[in-house]
Amino acid sequence: MASRTLRIGLIPGDGIGREVIPAGRRILEALPTSLGLKFSFVDLDAGWDTFKRTGTALPDQTVETLKKECDGALFGAVSSPITATKGYSSPIVALRKKLDLYANVRPVKSVAPTPCFPDPIDLVIVRENTEDLYVKEEKTYDGPNGKVAEAIKRITESASSRIATIAGEIALRRQRVRETTGETARKSMVTVTHKSNVMSQSDGLFRTTARKALEQAKFKDAGVIIDDQIVDSMAYKLFREPSFYDVIVAPNLYGDILSDAAAALVGSLGLVPSANVGDGFAIGEPCHGSAPDIEGKGIANPIATLRSVALMLEFMNQEEAAAKIYQAVDANLAEGKLLTPDMGGKAKTDEVVNDIIKRL
Ligand code: ATP
Ligand code: MG
Repeated sequence: MASRTLRIGLIPGDGIGREVIPAGRRILEALPTSLGLKFSFVDLDAGWDTFKRTGTALPDQTVETLKKECDGALFGAVSSPITATKGYSSPIVALRKKLDLYANVRPVKSVAPTPCFPDPIDLVIVRENTEDLYVKEEKTYDGPNGKVAEAIKRITESASSRIATIAGEIALRRQRVRETTGETARKSMVTVTHKSNVMSQSDGLFRTTARKALEQAKFKDAGVIIDDQIVDSMAYKLFREPSFYDVIVAPNLYGDILSDAAAALVGSLGLVPSANVGDGFAIGEPCHGSAPDIEGKGIANPIATLRSVALMLEFMNQEEAAAKIYQAVDANLAEGKLLTPDMGGKAKTDEVVNDIIKRL
Protein backbone atom coordinates (compact mmCIF):
# COMPACT_ATOMS: atom_id res chain seq x y z
CA MET A 1 0.00 0.00 0.00
CA ALA A 2 1.30 3.47 -0.85
CA SER A 3 1.79 5.32 2.38
CA ARG A 4 0.43 8.77 2.88
CA THR A 5 2.16 11.43 4.90
CA LEU A 6 -0.11 13.41 7.17
CA ARG A 7 1.24 16.65 8.54
CA ILE A 8 0.35 17.38 12.15
CA GLY A 9 0.71 20.75 13.88
CA LEU A 10 1.89 20.40 17.49
CA ILE A 11 0.90 23.21 19.85
CA PRO A 12 2.08 22.19 23.34
CA GLY A 13 1.25 25.55 25.00
CA ASP A 14 2.13 25.80 28.68
CA GLY A 15 2.60 23.63 31.77
CA ILE A 16 1.97 19.92 31.32
CA GLY A 17 0.95 20.64 27.70
CA ARG A 18 4.71 20.41 27.07
CA GLU A 19 4.81 16.96 28.65
CA VAL A 20 1.73 15.41 27.08
CA ILE A 21 1.98 16.67 23.49
CA PRO A 22 5.32 14.88 22.97
CA ALA A 23 3.49 11.72 24.14
CA GLY A 24 0.92 12.36 21.41
CA ARG A 25 3.68 12.61 18.84
CA ARG A 26 5.27 9.39 20.07
CA ILE A 27 2.08 7.38 19.69
CA LEU A 28 1.62 8.58 16.11
CA GLU A 29 5.20 7.62 15.31
CA ALA A 30 4.67 4.21 16.86
CA LEU A 31 1.55 3.25 14.85
CA PRO A 32 2.07 -0.01 12.95
CA THR A 33 3.43 0.52 9.43
CA SER A 34 0.77 -1.91 8.15
CA LEU A 35 -1.70 0.99 8.44
CA GLY A 36 0.13 2.68 5.57
CA LEU A 37 0.33 6.02 7.34
CA LYS A 38 3.27 8.34 7.85
CA PHE A 39 3.35 11.51 9.83
CA SER A 40 5.37 14.67 9.72
CA PHE A 41 5.24 17.29 12.43
CA VAL A 42 5.53 21.03 12.77
CA ASP A 43 6.00 22.70 16.18
CA LEU A 44 3.82 25.74 16.70
CA ASP A 45 3.67 28.40 19.40
CA ALA A 46 0.71 29.58 21.43
CA GLY A 47 -0.11 30.33 25.04
CA TRP A 48 0.90 32.42 28.01
CA ASP A 49 4.65 31.92 27.60
CA THR A 50 4.34 32.86 23.95
CA PHE A 51 2.42 35.97 25.02
CA LYS A 52 5.12 36.94 27.50
CA ARG A 53 7.82 36.47 24.86
CA THR A 54 6.11 37.98 21.83
CA GLY A 55 3.13 40.03 23.02
CA THR A 56 0.60 37.74 21.37
CA ALA A 57 -0.86 34.46 22.62
CA LEU A 58 -1.58 33.20 19.12
CA PRO A 59 1.02 34.23 16.52
CA ASP A 60 -0.31 34.63 12.96
CA GLN A 61 2.30 32.14 11.84
CA THR A 62 0.67 29.41 13.92
CA VAL A 63 -2.70 30.05 12.27
CA GLU A 64 -1.22 30.30 8.77
CA THR A 65 0.80 27.09 9.14
CA LEU A 66 -2.26 25.21 10.36
CA LYS A 67 -4.31 26.51 7.44
CA LYS A 68 -1.74 25.99 4.71
CA GLU A 69 0.27 22.95 5.74
CA CYS A 70 -1.51 20.79 8.26
CA ASP A 71 -3.95 17.90 7.99
CA GLY A 72 -4.69 18.01 11.70
CA ALA A 73 -3.30 19.34 14.98
CA LEU A 74 -2.84 18.70 18.67
CA PHE A 75 -3.22 21.38 21.29
CA GLY A 76 -1.89 20.86 24.84
CA ALA A 77 -3.04 23.41 27.38
CA VAL A 78 -2.48 27.06 28.15
CA SER A 79 -2.15 28.88 31.44
CA SER A 80 -4.05 32.09 31.74
CA PRO A 81 -3.03 35.10 33.77
CA ILE A 82 -4.83 35.33 37.12
CA THR A 83 -5.93 38.91 36.50
CA ALA A 84 -7.13 40.23 33.15
CA THR A 85 -4.05 41.20 31.14
CA LYS A 86 -4.26 43.76 28.37
CA GLY A 87 -3.85 42.14 24.96
CA TYR A 88 -4.13 38.57 26.23
CA SER A 89 -6.97 36.34 25.15
CA SER A 90 -7.31 32.57 25.03
CA PRO A 91 -5.54 31.18 21.95
CA ILE A 92 -7.75 28.10 21.67
CA VAL A 93 -10.89 30.22 21.63
CA ALA A 94 -9.30 32.35 18.88
CA LEU A 95 -8.21 29.26 16.93
CA ARG A 96 -11.73 27.84 17.01
CA LYS A 97 -12.97 31.10 15.48
CA LYS A 98 -10.21 31.51 12.90
CA LEU A 99 -10.47 27.94 11.63
CA ASP A 100 -14.26 27.76 12.07
CA LEU A 101 -14.03 24.73 14.35
CA TYR A 102 -17.70 24.83 15.19
CA ALA A 103 -18.03 21.57 17.11
CA ASN A 104 -16.46 20.57 20.39
CA VAL A 105 -16.57 16.81 20.69
CA ARG A 106 -16.01 15.15 24.05
CA PRO A 107 -16.22 11.39 24.51
CA VAL A 108 -16.66 10.15 28.08
CA LYS A 109 -15.91 6.51 28.74
CA SER A 110 -15.69 4.62 32.02
CA VAL A 111 -12.65 2.55 32.95
CA ALA A 112 -14.43 -0.22 34.88
CA PRO A 113 -17.80 -0.86 36.53
CA THR A 114 -18.29 0.82 39.91
CA PRO A 115 -20.98 0.23 42.57
CA CYS A 116 -22.62 3.49 41.46
CA PHE A 117 -22.40 2.76 37.74
CA PRO A 118 -22.35 -0.99 37.12
CA ASP A 119 -23.10 -0.52 33.39
CA PRO A 120 -20.38 0.86 31.11
CA ILE A 121 -20.48 4.60 30.44
CA ASP A 122 -19.64 5.32 26.82
CA LEU A 123 -21.08 8.55 25.51
CA VAL A 124 -20.08 11.56 23.44
CA ILE A 125 -21.11 15.13 23.99
CA VAL A 126 -21.19 17.28 20.86
CA ARG A 127 -21.26 20.93 21.80
CA GLU A 128 -22.03 23.78 19.39
CA ASN A 129 -19.13 26.16 19.64
CA THR A 130 -19.89 29.41 17.82
CA GLU A 131 -23.07 30.96 19.15
CA ASP A 132 -25.75 30.81 21.88
CA LEU A 133 -25.04 32.98 24.95
CA TYR A 134 -21.34 32.89 24.12
CA VAL A 135 -21.65 35.41 21.30
CA LYS A 136 -20.68 37.74 24.15
CA GLU A 137 -23.07 40.50 23.21
CA GLU A 138 -23.71 41.95 26.64
CA LYS A 139 -24.63 45.34 27.96
CA THR A 140 -25.17 46.95 31.35
CA TYR A 141 -27.35 49.97 31.97
CA ASP A 142 -29.06 51.76 34.84
CA GLY A 143 -32.59 50.60 35.51
CA PRO A 144 -35.15 52.07 37.91
CA ASN A 145 -33.90 49.78 40.73
CA GLY A 146 -30.17 49.74 40.01
CA LYS A 147 -28.03 48.20 37.32
CA VAL A 148 -29.39 45.83 34.71
CA ALA A 149 -27.21 43.49 32.66
CA GLU A 150 -28.42 41.79 29.50
CA ALA A 151 -26.91 39.18 27.21
CA ILE A 152 -27.97 37.95 23.79
CA LYS A 153 -28.62 34.25 23.27
CA ARG A 154 -28.35 33.72 19.51
CA ILE A 155 -29.34 30.43 17.89
CA THR A 156 -29.28 30.06 14.11
CA GLU A 157 -30.80 27.44 11.89
CA SER A 158 -27.54 26.94 9.99
CA ALA A 159 -25.36 26.37 13.07
CA SER A 160 -27.97 24.11 14.68
CA SER A 161 -28.27 22.07 11.54
CA ARG A 162 -24.54 21.53 11.02
CA ILE A 163 -23.90 20.59 14.66
CA ALA A 164 -26.73 18.03 14.58
CA THR A 165 -25.35 16.64 11.33
CA ILE A 166 -21.92 16.12 12.91
CA ALA A 167 -23.63 14.44 15.88
CA GLY A 168 -25.48 12.12 13.48
CA GLU A 169 -22.24 11.26 11.69
CA ILE A 170 -20.56 10.47 15.00
CA ALA A 171 -23.49 8.19 15.87
CA LEU A 172 -23.07 6.38 12.55
CA ARG A 173 -19.35 5.94 13.11
CA ARG A 174 -19.88 4.60 16.61
CA GLN A 175 -22.41 2.16 15.22
CA ARG A 176 -19.87 0.93 12.64
CA VAL A 177 -17.27 0.47 15.38
CA ARG A 178 -19.72 -1.45 17.57
CA GLU A 179 -20.60 -3.69 14.65
CA THR A 180 -16.94 -4.53 14.00
CA THR A 181 -16.24 -5.20 17.67
CA GLY A 182 -19.32 -7.41 17.88
CA GLU A 183 -21.01 -5.24 20.48
CA THR A 184 -24.35 -4.77 18.74
CA ALA A 185 -26.67 -4.81 21.72
CA ARG A 186 -26.84 -1.06 21.80
CA LYS A 187 -28.73 1.08 19.31
CA SER A 188 -27.29 4.38 18.12
CA MET A 189 -29.13 7.32 19.53
CA VAL A 190 -28.70 11.08 19.37
CA THR A 191 -30.25 13.06 22.23
CA VAL A 192 -30.97 16.70 21.42
CA THR A 193 -30.60 18.88 24.52
CA HIS A 194 -32.61 22.06 24.98
CA LYS A 195 -34.88 24.07 27.24
CA SER A 196 -37.60 24.79 24.72
CA ASN A 197 -40.35 24.64 27.33
CA VAL A 198 -39.04 28.02 28.56
CA MET A 199 -36.90 29.38 25.72
CA SER A 200 -39.47 28.47 23.10
CA GLN A 201 -37.97 30.53 20.28
CA SER A 202 -34.21 30.10 20.67
CA ASP A 203 -34.06 26.59 22.09
CA GLY A 204 -37.21 25.80 20.14
CA LEU A 205 -35.33 26.58 16.93
CA PHE A 206 -32.38 24.47 18.06
CA ARG A 207 -34.62 21.53 18.86
CA THR A 208 -36.68 21.51 15.67
CA THR A 209 -33.68 22.21 13.42
CA ALA A 210 -31.52 19.54 15.06
CA ARG A 211 -34.30 16.97 14.85
CA LYS A 212 -34.86 17.80 11.21
CA ALA A 213 -31.15 17.43 10.39
CA LEU A 214 -31.12 14.06 12.12
CA GLU A 215 -34.03 12.89 10.02
CA GLN A 216 -31.79 12.85 6.92
CA ALA A 217 -32.02 9.52 5.14
CA LYS A 218 -28.41 8.53 5.87
CA PHE A 219 -29.15 8.54 9.60
CA LYS A 220 -32.68 7.20 9.41
CA ASP A 221 -31.77 4.33 7.12
CA ALA A 222 -29.02 3.29 9.53
CA GLY A 223 -31.56 3.20 12.36
CA VAL A 224 -30.18 6.12 14.38
CA ILE A 225 -32.78 6.93 17.04
CA ILE A 226 -33.57 10.62 17.61
CA ASP A 227 -34.47 11.63 21.12
CA ASP A 228 -34.71 15.01 22.78
CA GLN A 229 -34.61 16.03 26.37
CA ILE A 230 -34.87 19.16 28.48
CA VAL A 231 -31.47 20.02 29.85
CA ASP A 232 -32.26 19.92 33.57
CA SER A 233 -33.92 16.53 33.45
CA MET A 234 -31.07 15.37 31.24
CA ALA A 235 -28.49 16.45 33.82
CA TYR A 236 -30.40 14.41 36.39
CA LYS A 237 -30.58 11.33 34.22
CA LEU A 238 -26.96 11.72 33.10
CA PHE A 239 -25.91 11.28 36.71
CA ARG A 240 -28.45 8.59 37.58
CA GLU A 241 -28.12 6.47 34.48
CA PRO A 242 -25.21 7.58 32.27
CA SER A 243 -25.19 4.29 30.36
CA PHE A 244 -28.50 5.37 28.80
CA TYR A 245 -26.76 7.93 26.58
CA ASP A 246 -24.91 7.50 23.31
CA VAL A 247 -24.47 10.84 21.49
CA ILE A 248 -25.67 14.07 23.09
CA VAL A 249 -25.91 17.24 21.01
CA ALA A 250 -26.28 20.58 22.74
CA PRO A 251 -26.12 24.32 22.19
CA ASN A 252 -22.99 26.04 23.51
CA LEU A 253 -23.89 26.82 27.13
CA TYR A 254 -25.60 23.53 28.04
CA GLY A 255 -22.87 21.64 26.21
CA ASP A 256 -20.17 23.46 28.16
CA ILE A 257 -21.71 22.58 31.50
CA LEU A 258 -22.71 19.03 30.63
CA SER A 259 -19.34 18.14 29.16
CA ASP A 260 -17.38 19.20 32.26
CA ALA A 261 -19.90 17.53 34.53
CA ALA A 262 -19.85 14.31 32.50
CA ALA A 263 -16.05 14.17 32.74
CA ALA A 264 -16.48 13.84 36.51
CA LEU A 265 -18.39 10.58 35.99
CA VAL A 266 -15.26 8.75 34.91
CA GLY A 267 -12.67 9.99 37.37
CA SER A 268 -9.49 11.82 36.48
CA LEU A 269 -9.40 14.82 34.19
CA GLY A 270 -6.29 13.14 32.86
CA LEU A 271 -8.41 10.61 30.97
CA VAL A 272 -10.83 12.79 29.05
CA PRO A 273 -10.08 13.86 25.46
CA SER A 274 -11.75 16.35 23.17
CA ALA A 275 -11.60 17.55 19.61
CA ASN A 276 -12.38 20.90 18.04
CA VAL A 277 -13.91 20.05 14.69
CA GLY A 278 -14.80 21.99 11.56
CA ASP A 279 -15.38 20.97 7.97
CA GLY A 280 -12.23 19.11 7.03
CA PHE A 281 -10.05 20.00 10.02
CA ALA A 282 -9.78 18.83 13.62
CA ILE A 283 -7.62 19.78 16.58
CA GLY A 284 -7.30 17.18 19.34
CA GLU A 285 -7.09 18.67 22.83
CA PRO A 286 -7.02 17.00 26.26
CA CYS A 287 -9.78 18.41 28.49
CA HIS A 288 -7.45 19.22 31.35
CA GLY A 289 -5.60 22.51 31.80
CA SER A 290 -1.92 23.24 32.25
CA ALA A 291 -1.91 21.71 35.79
CA PRO A 292 0.82 23.93 37.28
CA ASP A 293 0.76 21.86 40.49
CA ILE A 294 2.34 18.86 38.76
CA GLU A 295 4.30 20.63 36.02
CA GLY A 296 7.86 19.40 35.48
CA LYS A 297 7.46 16.27 37.61
CA GLY A 298 6.95 13.92 34.67
CA ILE A 299 3.79 12.46 36.20
CA ALA A 300 1.06 13.99 34.01
CA ASN A 301 -1.40 11.39 32.80
CA PRO A 302 -0.91 11.16 29.01
CA ILE A 303 -4.16 9.28 28.33
CA ALA A 304 -6.38 12.32 27.70
CA THR A 305 -3.89 13.37 25.03
CA LEU A 306 -3.48 9.91 23.50
CA ARG A 307 -7.26 9.63 23.22
CA SER A 308 -7.35 13.12 21.70
CA VAL A 309 -4.86 11.91 19.08
CA ALA A 310 -7.24 9.05 18.27
CA LEU A 311 -10.18 11.43 18.09
CA MET A 312 -8.28 13.70 15.71
CA LEU A 313 -7.51 10.67 13.53
CA GLU A 314 -11.21 9.74 13.45
CA PHE A 315 -12.04 13.12 11.97
CA MET A 316 -9.22 12.65 9.45
CA ASN A 317 -11.02 9.46 8.36
CA GLN A 318 -8.30 7.26 9.83
CA GLU A 319 -10.64 5.10 11.86
CA GLU A 320 -8.42 2.04 11.91
CA ALA A 321 -5.48 3.95 13.36
CA ALA A 322 -7.79 5.58 15.90
CA ALA A 323 -9.18 2.20 16.96
CA LYS A 324 -5.64 0.87 17.56
CA ILE A 325 -4.92 3.71 19.98
CA TYR A 326 -8.24 3.39 21.82
CA GLN A 327 -7.72 -0.36 22.24
CA ALA A 328 -4.14 0.05 23.50
CA VAL A 329 -5.25 2.69 26.04
CA ASP A 330 -8.18 0.55 27.21
CA ALA A 331 -5.87 -2.45 27.62
CA ASN A 332 -3.48 -0.39 29.76
CA LEU A 333 -6.36 0.80 31.95
CA ALA A 334 -7.95 -2.64 32.17
CA GLU A 335 -4.72 -4.16 33.42
CA GLY A 336 -4.31 -1.23 35.81
CA LYS A 337 -0.64 -1.88 36.61
CA LEU A 338 1.03 1.12 35.05
CA LEU A 339 -0.95 4.17 36.08
CA THR A 340 0.01 7.75 36.88
CA PRO A 341 -0.58 9.11 40.43
CA ASP A 342 -3.92 10.78 39.53
CA MET A 343 -5.20 7.22 38.93
CA GLY A 344 -3.73 5.91 42.16
CA GLY A 345 -0.55 4.55 40.55
CA LYS A 346 3.12 5.42 40.72
CA ALA A 347 4.12 5.44 37.05
CA LYS A 348 5.68 8.32 35.19
CA THR A 349 4.17 9.77 32.00
CA ASP A 350 6.79 8.05 29.84
CA GLU A 351 6.27 4.65 31.43
CA VAL A 352 2.56 4.80 30.69
CA VAL A 353 3.25 5.86 27.09
CA ASN A 354 5.78 3.02 26.68
CA ASP A 355 3.24 0.52 27.98
CA ILE A 356 0.54 1.77 25.61
CA ILE A 357 2.91 1.78 22.64
CA LYS A 358 3.85 -1.82 23.43
CA ARG A 359 0.15 -2.73 23.14
CA LEU A 360 -0.46 -1.04 19.77
P1 ATP B 1 -5.53 25.75 34.19
O1 ATP B 1 -5.75 27.12 34.67
O2 ATP B 1 -4.48 25.66 33.12
O3 ATP B 1 -6.78 25.01 33.83
P2 ATP B 1 -5.66 24.36 36.70
O4 ATP B 1 -4.90 24.73 37.92
O5 ATP B 1 -7.12 24.61 36.63
O6 ATP B 1 -4.91 24.96 35.44
P3 ATP B 1 -6.10 21.78 35.60
O7 ATP B 1 -5.13 21.39 34.56
O8 ATP B 1 -7.45 22.23 35.17
O9 ATP B 1 -5.39 22.84 36.51
O10 ATP B 1 -6.17 20.57 36.60
C1 ATP B 1 -6.98 20.49 37.75
C2 ATP B 1 -6.42 19.39 38.65
O11 ATP B 1 -6.37 18.13 37.97
C3 ATP B 1 -4.98 19.67 39.10
O12 ATP B 1 -4.82 19.26 40.43
C4 ATP B 1 -4.14 18.83 38.18
O13 ATP B 1 -2.93 18.40 38.75
C5 ATP B 1 -5.04 17.64 37.88
N1 ATP B 1 -4.77 17.19 36.49
C6 ATP B 1 -5.16 17.79 35.37
N2 ATP B 1 -4.70 17.15 34.28
C7 ATP B 1 -3.98 16.12 34.72
C8 ATP B 1 -3.23 15.09 34.08
N3 ATP B 1 -3.13 14.99 32.75
N4 ATP B 1 -2.60 14.20 34.86
C9 ATP B 1 -2.69 14.27 36.19
N5 ATP B 1 -3.38 15.20 36.87
C10 ATP B 1 -4.02 16.13 36.15
MG1 MG C 1 -8.55 24.20 34.97
